[in-house]
Amino acid sequence: MQIERRDFLSTLTLAGAAALFSGNPLLAATAQKKEKLGIALVGLGYYSTDLLAPALQMTEKCYLAGIVTGTPAKAETWKAKYKIPDKNIYNYQNFDQIANNPDIDIVYVVLPPSMHREYVVRAAKAGKHVFCEKPMAPSVADCEAMIKACSSSKVKLAIGYRCQHDPNIQAIMKLAKEPKFGKVKMVTSAAGYFDARTDHWKQNKALGGGVMGDMGVYALQGARLATGEEPISVFAQASTTRPEIYKEVEETMMFMLDFPSGAKASCQTSFGINMNHLQVNYEKGWAKLEPQSGYNGNKGSMSDGTLIQFPIKNQQAKQMDEDCDAILRSTDLIAPGEEGLRDIRVVEAIYKSAAAGKVIKI
Ligand code: NAD
Repeated sequence: MQIERRDFLSTLTLAGAAALFSGNPLLAATAQKKEKLGIALVGLGYYSTDLLAPALQMTEKCYLAGIVTGTPAKAETWKAKYKIPDKNIYNYQNFDQIANNPDIDIVYVVLPPSMHREYVVRAAKAGKHVFCEKPMAPSVADCEAMIKACSSSKVKLAIGYRCQHDPNIQAIMKLAKEPKFGKVKMVTSAAGYFDARTDHWKQNKALGGGVMGDMGVYALQGARLATGEEPISVFAQASTTRPEIYKEVEETMMFMLDFPSGAKASCQTSFGINMNHLQVNYEKGWAKLEPQSGYNGNKGSMSDGTLIQFPIKNQQAKQMDEDCDAILRSTDLIAPGEEGLRDIRVVEAIYKSAAAGKVIKI
């Protein structure tokens, strides 16, 4: 008997969806009729409001399905602006009921870093895939608990490392895997901006503030991605020029990394200085990006005259679409929880080094 192509394809889609969501009855109930995954944003501050929600109007594999907020007035504004039904609006108290909502496939945690662990774990327990903003969490122990919760619930955990989805950074990453100018000798990596705010969680230790987790992960990623290696030791120095604002956390961090191949990195990050560049010196040439971690327009060049200039429509939309594609196809994420953990392991060593004033092995 001949099977019609249309029937075959539809059977394939259903079988694929069933396989994808097997072990997760909450998602299994909804997956088969979906072409786009529903995302609920948790925390409607700057990044959700100005970048993620607008990007979710451009995505092809996901859409803004719900919100989680502690501020009723924000719920009203978002509901009207993005036509979000009441049943998809949660607060921090009733958030766990999201488990019963088939519209929501992914919870995207966009809260201060100290809250990431709690909301990632709660989302995983609710049977939802999770996207979590950087820095993954303040400690290695937090990151490990988050990874464990997601793997126990058989859901995926992606870190919001938008730059790893950017073809300009990917061009630098490629030079580590396919050397064009020989081995990496030295990386110089900087990421910072002048933050004029005086009373924000970025200045509050208990909420996971401090520049190292915030802009510092971009400076660190510049070095890790350009070498394609994990650092083995670090020497760091923390400082501030505004002690009246940065009472609990550092305004600036400078850190030097040693890599197993012998490559070295000199990295800087600051809430007091506008800087954003990456220079990689190889045995026989160089590559640089400036800016290296902007939302738009990262660009650079190589010593042989090659331009690194890949314009993209929207970085966050690309990130979310690629992460959703990995969920839909059951393939590997570009930046899973383990990648966030790799950074936080180094960040912990950086703080140890700055406090002790000596080199710390990682
Ligand atoms: P923000 O201060 O603008 O927003 C934080 C949100 O958390 C607000 O909606 C606030 O109401 C809510 N919140 C709940 N409990 C809170 C508490 N106890 N204290 C403070 N806020 C509380 O911050 P943001 O800039 O949107 O950053 C949120 C997350 O997104 C952080 O992890 C940050 O590092 C990340 N982020 C990532 C990028 C990126 O390019 N990937 C850019 C900006 C921010």
